[in-house]
Amino acid sequence: MQSLAALSRTTIPAGGIHKSIPPRISVVIPLYNEEESIPALYERLTAALEEYGATFEIIIVDDGSSDGSFALLAEIGTRDPRYRIIKLRRNFGQTAAFSAGFDHASGDVIITMDADLQNDPKDIPLLMEKVNEGYDIVSGWRKDRQDRFLDRKLPSMIANRMISNVTDVRLHDYGCSLKAYRRDVLQHVHLYGELHRFIPALASQVGGSVTEVAVDHHARQYGTSKYGIGRTVRVVLDLITVWFLGSYATRPIQVFGSLGLISSAAGVLVGLYLTGLKLFNHQDIGSRPLLLLAVLLVVIGVQLITMGLLGEMITRTYFESQNKPIYYVREVVNGENTSA
Ligand code: UDP
Ligand code: MG
Repeated sequence: MQSLAALSRTTIPAGGIHKSIPPRISVVIPLYNEEESIPALYERLTAALEEYGATFEIIIVDDGSSDGSFALLAEIGTRDPRYRIIKLRRNFGQTAAFSAGFDHASGDVIITMDADLQNDPKDIPLLMEKVNEGYDIVSGWRKDRQDRFLDRKLPSMIANRMISNVTDVRLHDYGCSLKAYRRDVLQHVHLYGELHRFIPALASQVGGSVTEVAVDHHARQYGTSKYGIGRTVRVVLDLITVWFLGSYATRPIQVFGSLGLISSAAGVLVGLYLTGLKLFNHQDIGSRPLLLLAVLLVVIGVQLITMGLLGEMITRTYFESQNKPIYYVREVVNGENTSA
């Protein structure tokens, strides 16, 4: 008989229970002023999915385009019922467009890609292969990226390194839109701001397994990119948010409290040193910059600790007001998964 220890060593692929059901695919595409790309997108995407053979739906989210995109999309939607078109009231940004698409998607597997055909729909089977192996998130890796070096590839290389180090999800390319997700993992991921490039990291924080596959990348054929170099700064700020929420959202006092204690302790030490000088050496300390530093460190320390305590209260409000669990269950043997 197999011992318990041996059993625990056999790795059961994540989400393996879904394997027997053929996944129904939802492709989610955010689209903002891409009218020239739409005919080719329709043709190539439909052909690739038909060839793959699984049942599918395509959700295109028109993120408040001001050109003729929506008219073209609406026409496709009336002709082909597999296409669902969602028009947002204004330009909310790519992350919000993804989020709208996810909310309307009903497939077991959700595949995201850009509308500009820089990603190749022909790579969808590659992603699906990994999903069928049991991974919850499969991220495309633009191994041979066809964009300018200085303002696109270089910042992206630096950002990828940083994200990889900070989030512990080791991918080469976070910015690639071509990704596949299992729906049951994605439903726990809530998107804000420009966090779409962190979806793998966020999904892994709720316990999803992540992998990547190399995919093709083409130069933009039509239209222009919607982003400039300013994106890099925003990515760094978002990274801080993701790191904090992932590691310390349920225990903010540990971040702020530690910093506060270090700061206060340093302030007290400096203060003691100055007191010693005053008492034993009879030196005048009133005009010393060091005194200012001591006071500053103590005040900042107290403030940081207070911030941590406020954070603890906010955390409780966040989780308890919505009955949110602080854990995520993958599956339950003999019972129902109440957190799904
Ligand atoms: N996009 C969007 N809303 C925006 C900006 C972009 O829906 O506010 C879409 C855009 O139409 C494209 C995708 O997001 O399908 C990626 O944008 P882009 O190709 O400009 O980014 P890049 O590939 O240059 O990083
Ligand atoms: Mg693009």
